[in-house]
Amino acid sequence: MSTLVIRSRRVAFADGVREAAVLVRDNRIADIAGYGAQLGATTDVDLGELALLPGLVDTHVHVNEPGRTDWEGFATATRAAAAGGVTTICDMPLNSVPVTTTVSALREKIAAAAGQCAVDVAFWGGAVPGNLGELAGLLEAGVVGFKCFLIDSGIPEFPPLSRAELRTAMKALAESGVPMIVHAEDPAEVHSPTGPGYDAFVASRPPVSERRAIETVVGAAAATGARAHIVHLSAAECAALIGAAKAAGIALSAETCPHYLFFAAEEVPAGHTEFKCCPPLRYAANREALWRALAADVIDCVVSDHSPCTPALKDLDSGDFRTAWGGIASLQIGLPAVWTVARRRGMSLADVARWMSLFPASLAGLPAKGQIAVGCDADLVAFDPDASFEVRGAELLHRHPLTPYEGRTLTGRVARVWLRGAEVSPDGEPRGRLLRRGGGEIG
Ligand SMILES: [Zn+2]
Repeated sequence: MSTLVIRSRRVAFADGVREAAVLVRDNRIADIAGYGAQLGATTDVDLGELALLPGLVDTHVHVNEPGRTDWEGFATATRAAAAGGVTTICDMPLNSVPVTTTVSALREKIAAAAGQCAVDVAFWGGAVPGNLGELAGLLEAGVVGFKCFLIDSGIPEFPPLSRAELRTAMKALAESGVPMIVHAEDPAEVHSPTGPGYDAFVASRPPVSERRAIETVVGAAAATGARAHIVHLSAAECAALIGAAKAAGIALSAETCPHYLFFAAEEVPAGHTEFKCCPPLRYAANREALWRALAADVIDCVVSDHSPCTPALKDLDSGDFRTAWGGIASLQIGLPAVWTVARRRGMSLADVARWMSLFPASLAGLPAKGQIAVGCDADLVAFDPDASFEVRGAELLHRHPLTPYEGRTLTGRVARVWLRGAEVSPDGEPRGRLLRRGGGEIG
């Protein structure tokens, strides 16, 4: 049987960075030894000062196939993921057609994904008004959990849950232990922007809209005992509420996204709607507070919310933030975007691996993913933490080149990627598997 050893002076384990040799046998990590250990492997790779990270697990990706494959698809999204060091993605139940709110829709999605994924893919189901009867079937079919909105999703076939519906759905999930992941903005606190510009857009979706919605989620989690997770937290003032809920023993977690940690509203150029997402990028003081919440483990993870659309929907000609589609595509550059700021703040690659690999893997119930540990899948990334490069959207592998990172210099470059022990190249044969919660194959 062929074996592989990868050596690095900087291996990012969950508890710190140190030198090691990682032995891979039969797709999995079979042993972890000293950097210079004689392991007699068929192939021996010495990365030297290049870091070795666990493959990233991105639990927030809108692939949009089937149905909106002109926005993004499994082939393009997973190639971008592979190039960015993301070895597992979890696909959101919207904006595909159909949305993943029934077992038959999940079957259609699995059929669409089959055979064209460069990395492993798992699926979220959707909780919408009226599909309570589908949740058990979707779980049995292998979704990793459920996504719901508390505000208009932008997609009519994926309407939001009311407070009462949220509680009912979470009650139905409590016993299974799978998370309800919630887009938390309260429509009662959101209003129409007073003008086309960015400041008016930010003002229309204020921090209080996130806070009120998170209060609703905390209440539902406390009442039902179900696990809840806040997606794409933008308003840092909510950290106090989330921290207090956790301290009270409520099963709550939260993610933020690279763009909230990287950009600030002050630097959004007029008319540049590629910066639009919901909830919005807020001001620099908020970004500072988000980093503090992350460092304090109040925010648990960082995932992309990769949400592309066609360039036409971004309405760049008018530059009107009222009408442009919201969503930022960053699957391929999330790791360097986060590392660029994290290293400046004195955080380590072990922190990044915890936020972008370990926690997301546990959220999605994928125990063989997300860490460099014996028995785990050999999903590994060679990463040069000192190299820098300038982002050019046209060179990224997702379907549309538009990105707010255009022209930005980022630190950290993905050098090589292994998926279950085999080196991945974006142009190679797609070897990704479709996974169910627990880690077995779905389908
Ligand atoms: Zn999203």
